[in-house]
Amino acid sequence: MHNPDPSNDGHLAGEFIVTAEEVTCQQFVELVTDYFEGALPARTLSKVEEHLVMCDWCVAYVEQMQATVDALRIEDLPWWLCNELWEIELDGRVEVDEHKIFAPAGRLRSRVEGWTPACAQEYADACAWRAHKRAAQALTRAGHASASAELAACATLDDVLLVARRLADSWPDTKISLTIAGDGAFRALTGAPPTSAYNAAHAAARLDGAEGYAAERAWQSRWLAGRLGLRPAIQSVNGRSDI
Ligand SMILES: [Zn+2]
Repeated sequence: MHNPDPSNDGHLAGEFIVTAEEVTCQQFVELVTDYFEGALPARTLSKVEEHLVMCDWCVAYVEQMQATVDALRIEDLPWWLCNELWEIELDGRVEVDEHKIFAPAGRLRSRVEGWTPACAQEYADACAWRAHKRAAQALTRAGHASASAELAACATLDDVLLVARRLADSWPDTKISLTIAGDGAFRALTGAPPTSAYNAAHAAARLDGAEGYAAERAWQSRWLAGRLGLRPAIQSVNGRSDI
């Protein structure tokens, strides 16, 4: 165990201004926040960097400071779904990223029992049907009313897969929406909920751009929150790899 006690290095505790030729471990610990924020004067920074080259203990300290626990808000769930969901309690300052949040530490509380393979399948199916509906809307907008009616009449996702792929060959101007709908059905039929949800979001983006995409992702979050009984204050994480 390394002892960062400054007396070992001949410096006084609380000595912030680095006047000696070398930075001590104790000084480094005191300077670490400024170091992370890029606020060190150039001369001090170069001494700190020299110290980090020599000192494994301070390098380990930096790595520990940088280690974070990633977690998801309900609205982030569609991006990161995996086999298990857990509720987590985060400690320390919570930072917000685009599709996740993170904090210095956290504790798993309990598994979200409602997230089962059957629920995942139900979610995948719901998303595939959303992509299907978007493709039918795209056909209508392009003026292909009978093709739209044919697609809309599909009773199973197997039908959607076949009909969407056939129509995609017939209607080049709607090919992408139809391909997305066919792929969404295929993903749901082969048990890939996150991909099915991705298809639904992109099917919406084809129709209504970024707003359509965001609205579809929001719909997916609401579906998951409602089905899993998640309250907004609860964050869920991937219990295996994100922690
Ligand atoms: Zn050190």
